[in-house]
Amino acid sequence: MKIAILSTNKNLYSTSRLVKAGEERGHDMVVINHKQCYMNITSHNPSIHLKGVAITDVDAIIPRIGASVSFYGTAVVRQFEMMGVYSVNESVAISRSRDKLRASQLLARRGIGLPVTGFANSPGDTEDLLRLIGGAPVVIKLLEGTQGVGVVLAETKKAAESVIEAFRGLKANFMVQEFIAEAGGADIRCLVVGDKVVASMRRQGKEGEFRSNLHRGGSATLIKITPEERSTAVRSAKVMGLNVAGVDLLRSNHGPVVMEVNSSPGLEGIEKATKKNVAGMIIEFIEKNAKHGKTRTRGTG
Ligand code: ADP
Ligand code: MG
Repeated sequence: MKIAILSTNKNLYSTSRLVKAGEERGHDMVVINHKQCYMNITSHNPSIHLKGVAITDVDAIIPRIGASVSFYGTAVVRQFEMMGVYSVNESVAISRSRDKLRASQLLARRGIGLPVTGFANSPGDTEDLLRLIGGAPVVIKLLEGTQGVGVVLAETKKAAESVIEAFRGLKANFMVQEFIAEAGGADIRCLVVGDKVVASMRRQGKEGEFRSNLHRGGSATLIKITPEERSTAVRSAKVMGLNVAGVDLLRSNHGPVVMEVNSSPGLEGIEKATKKNVAGMIIEFIEKNAKHGKTRTRGTG
């Protein structure tokens, strides 16, 4: 098969691992920088071009769309879908998971455990919003943040009000969440491929840090997850409509709660912590499922 990875940098760990894993399994692997693609949107013969050449013979794509280029990146994925090219994660699913608010609403609707979460727009209701969540301490998150940036722990009511006012002043969308203190600065990353958790790890924030992101100095170790955690992760990916997803869970007093579902999960941390060939499993999934014209809108809106 000819499999294209949509990535802005072929030297990134995840991109180069996917290339290697595909080549090991006998595929023709190419990296396409979606930022440099341009497209002709027509119903008869939609096409994608790169540096003067039309991209024509790709069988499947693996989108690795960074948060900063979601808008254009998902448009390129959508164009491949219009051309009948199989995408391991479809554009609508990527958009759903990127928007934390939309993702939370979809997961809640399907009965998946979440931290108590609120959001608001008008400046008059900060106090009641905080009351609704159960009061300080709360975690306040920018909706489009990633890698822990824009995630703030406000330990007191005063601090929470100041942060909310600041975010409002910036006209930024945010949500306010119950702080799961019992998670102890750790979370669980479950790597879902198809309908299985193929690898999982525990990430622990560095000393004094409640955010466990590896980009913020967190460290990863192996962990055995419970059947409940496993099914929560698989169901969450399914609600989003993602075939490949990194589902982040917190261990709360009221069971596993989902914090987010990533559509382009990094492979470095999880492959190193688990010594598993996750890239190979993604390629294997594509071998079994890719068919021309098979990408269609799944998930729940
Ligand atoms: P990002 O998309 O920036 O990674 P997250 O929502 O995943 O944002 O939050 C970053 C980290 O902060 C999480 O991995 C987790 O360790 C911690 N965290 C986030 N929300 C909560 C919460 N409600 N309670 C406790 N810890 C949290
Ligand atoms: Mg996260």
